[in-house]
Amino acid sequence: MLSLRRKDIVCQQAVELVTDYLEGALSRRDRRRFETHLRACPNCAAYLDQIRMTIQLAGAVGPDDLSPEAQQDLTDLYRRWRSE
Ligand SMILES: [Zn+2]
Repeated sequence: MLSLRRKDIVCQQAVELVTDYLEGALSRRDRRRFETHLRACPNCAAYLDQIRMTIQLAGAVGPDDLSPEAQQDLTDLYRRWRSE
C-alpha cells in the first residue's frame, strides 16, 4: 500500500482542486496528484462525480437530492466556479 507522504494531497486539498480540475485549469503535476488521490480515495472520487453532475445539471438539481452538507459544499464550489 502507498504510505501517505507529505507531498500527497489530502482530501481538503483535493476538494479545492475539483473545479480547477474540471475546467482543465490545473498544471500537469497538480492534475496528476489530484488523479492519484482520487484513485486512492473513493470519497473524493464520488465527490468529483457529484460535482460534475451538478454542473451538468446546473439549475436542475432539487433540494431533496443532496444532503444539506453536500448542498452547501456544492453551492460554495459552484459559486466559486461561476465567479472565475
Ligand atoms: Zn480524498
